[in-house]
Amino acid sequence: MATEFTGGCRCGQLRYRFEQDGPLLNYCCHCLDCQKSTASAFADQLIVSTDALTLTGRSVTYSTERPSGGTTNNRHCPDCFSRVCNANTAYPAMTIVRAGTLDDPSEPEPFAHMWTSRKRGWIVIDPAVPTFAESPDPAEFMRIAATRRAG
Ligand SMILES: [Zn+2]
Ligand SMILES: [Zn+2]
Repeated sequence: MATEFTGGCRCGQLRYRFEQDGPLLNYCCHCLDCQKSTASAFADQLIVSTDALTLTGRSVTYSTERPSGGTTNNRHCPDCFSRVCNANTAYPAMTIVRAGTLDDPSEPEPFAHMWTSRKRGWIVIDPAVPTFAESPDPAEFMRIAATRRAG
């Protein structure tokens, strides 16, 4: 059964919606780039099918080259500068939506944490949740995500 999720930037100008089956696929990244780009301790992110995602409103794109390959295109609201989502040209089928932009913030616990080697010392992760010291192998990571999707 498909569920609709909605969200948007802080000022409400840039909005999005997507429908998907099953629970949200949210994970956290503790890398230093994510700390800088979120201006916070870690990034709380959602894997969303690019085909399922609809953005409405104006956006500006800030692009960064990934050391691991591809270009990450970050979509920001040009008025309040919230970063709403990003996608890597190496993985066009999926878009990473910033979980903090959801209208309903009652997301489930993350299915994984990555770059825990950069994690702030005061953050305690449930030992039952998989962690990766740096970037996980993409196939392994998506296998864990699929376990969440299957419930
Ligand atoms: Zn905005
Ligand atoms: Zn990161």
